[in-house]
Amino acid sequence: MNSKQFKSGAKAFVEMGILKRGYVPQAEADNRAKVCASCAHNKTDRISLMLTIMEALVGKETKYDNALGVCDLCECVLPALVHASAHLVDTTHIEKYPQTCWKHTL
Ligand code: SF4
Repeated sequence: MNSKQFKSGAKAFVEMGILKRGYVPQAEADNRAKVCASCAHNKTDRISLMLTIMEALVGKETKYDNALGVCDLCECVLPALVHASAHLVDTTHIEKYPQTCWKHTL
C-alpha cells in the first residue's frame, strides 16, 4: 500500500466508519459488489482484522459480501469500498484496473 492509498483509506475510515457519511445509494453499491465478486483482483483469502473492523464500522451490506475480500490493486476492503462515494475512492493508476472495474465510471 502506497502513501496515497493509505491516506485515501484513512479518509474513508473516518468519513464512513466514524462520521457515517460518504455512502453511495444501495443500488450502486450492489452493482459494484457484483462486479468485484467476479473480479480476479478480489482476494477472499486475504480476510483480515482490518476487513472485519471496516465492515462492522461501515455497517452496510450487499448480498455479495460473502464473496468479497480485498482488492489486490488498491488494497481496499471491498465490502466497505463498494459503498464509498467517488471522493473517497482511490483511482491511482486506474490504467492498471480491468476494463470491467466500476472505478472507470467515477
Ligand atoms: S479491480 Fe475493481 S472490480 Fe476488481 S476487485 Fe478491484 S475494485 Fe473490484
